[in-house]
Amino acid sequence: MSGVYDERPWLKWYAEGEQADITPAHEDMIAVLEQTLRRCPERVALTYFDGELSYRELDVHVDALAAHLSARGVGGGDRLALYLQNVPQFVIALLAGWRLGAVVVPLNPMYRDHELNTILDDAQPAALVTSEHGWHEVLARVLPAHGEPVVVTTSELDFAGDVTPPVLRDSVRRRPEETEDLVEILRDRHGQHPPRPRVHPDDIALLTYTSGTGGPPKGATNTHRNISFNAQAFTQRADGPDGGGFLALAPLFHITGLVCQLGAALALGGRLDLLYRFEPGVVLDVVRKRRPQYMIAPSTAYVALMNHPGVSAEDFASFEQVYSGGAPLPVDLVRRFRSEFGIYIRNGYGLTETTATATSVPPHLEAPVDEATGTISVGIPTFNCLLRVVDDNGADLPAGSVGEIVVEGPMVVPAYWNRPEQTETTIPEGRMHTGDVGFMDADGWFYVVDRKKDVINASGFKVWPREVEDVLYTHPAVREAAVVGVADEYRGETVRAYVSLVSANAATEAELVEYCQGRLAAYKYPREVVLLDELPKTATGKILRRRLGERTSTQ
Ligand code: AMP
Repeated sequence: MSGVYDERPWLKWYAEGEQADITPAHEDMIAVLEQTLRRCPERVALTYFDGELSYRELDVHVDALAAHLSARGVGGGDRLALYLQNVPQFVIALLAGWRLGAVVVPLNPMYRDHELNTILDDAQPAALVTSEHGWHEVLARVLPAHGEPVVVTTSELDFAGDVTPPVLRDSVRRRPEETEDLVEILRDRHGQHPPRPRVHPDDIALLTYTSGTGGPPKGATNTHRNISFNAQAFTQRADGPDGGGFLALAPLFHITGLVCQLGAALALGGRLDLLYRFEPGVVLDVVRKRRPQYMIAPSTAYVALMNHPGVSAEDFASFEQVYSGGAPLPVDLVRRFRSEFGIYIRNGYGLTETTATATSVPPHLEAPVDEATGTISVGIPTFNCLLRVVDDNGADLPAGSVGEIVVEGPMVVPAYWNRPEQTETTIPEGRMHTGDVGFMDADGWFYVVDRKKDVINASGFKVWPREVEDVLYTHPAVREAAVVGVADEYRGETVRAYVSLVSANAATEAELVEYCQGRLAAYKYPREVVLLDELPKTATGKILRRRLGERTSTQ
């Protein structure tokens, strides 16, 4: 049935919305930034609670940090790791790294020693920017094993965004001697200009660590072209006035938050309303103060906001487009949100390896719902992106048939960092084999209905069972362990471990939960451990993970 996808039946929907010709203006993110700086330097680029930073001020900070990092030896192709929440410093450090031609490695601030060690070993950063919190909690223990990167720390909460930030309170003075303080750097280097090497669109801009379709975390090499393409494509889908406000609910260390909030705001000359982390009451305060136009968040964030005391339709009145992505979107949530708040949540689908969006719902349309499965469509492919549904041999399946979704286009990463074999298996010839199972209907709308891969999706956070099992196996009482995803009303899925012990009573369930909790990010440790005498196995002795838990989800 070859030809069904090559004909791109979804293109008629663009034509209908007069969006048949989406061609991004710039091929790298530095060009996107420079254009916005020229066009609207006095617009507000960032807000952080009461603080605001214009594009011009942001530029001064970016240059100051870049000048400092450059003087400390950081240059083109070097890795710059960020271990920060959604704070202004994240944006400054990211852009400083890009301006120097460095490869930015955003780390999930929930990661603990084990996870950080794995990634830092692989990425070998020359420098790292973190907070007081990050330094004291984790990195002082982890970093000594990873050479001597330049470490810049910053106090997270006091940064109000002045061009000459005030010297901060005691916490800064308590920082370890061997680190350098961001606020002092910005003040001392104010007005300095770093070298600006030419950035090529195919240069790697980010290493975003993901378990992908399996295996230990791997760095997806998102290039400047990948990011600039999707950031600009997203703004055209946003269809709002130039320079809207983007509520930064989604974490910036994750590709969706980075591209669809930060990248899109930069491309539009828009405003990024930053929040330290997701907390419904705080989100609503920011919404009431800043009145943003766009937001993107996993479905669970919408559930939490909808159920927060005192929330009303007026709170959402400023929004023009709101999006959900990263996890299944329940149809009932879409309906309830619309009836209670008058807002339609647009689904979108993508992976770290597709630099966030591969599909979305154009502004003039609503996603159809498949009657048979009750699944809402994830949308139609982003312009210039090609999706296919294939069988186990990689052959195209006809519309309506369920198979693996394969994505190709300018947003697909060329490779995984340092992993040619994994690249060859998962992204052969630039075609991303997603491990997601779905179908396309006759009108070109796509639906995700299941997964081939073992990954557990907890509110959009991905958990790879092997990583949790590896931690369990380091416990002396554990003989065998198998980790599965189980349905969870709020998170969609949550983590459960089945364990057999070396001897009866060698450990309790609660001890094993606590053991994992100390070693893994909060969303990864098993909420429940079930002790069994034996784990079910195949004839060859392989543990039958799938037989253990009903891996049911809301998909
Ligand atoms: P990540 O690399 O963390 O962005 O995770 C990508 C995975 O999230 C995909 O392979 C899907 O399994 C899942 N995903 C993303 N968007 C959606 C969606 N709209 N509906 C269902 N699953 C999704």
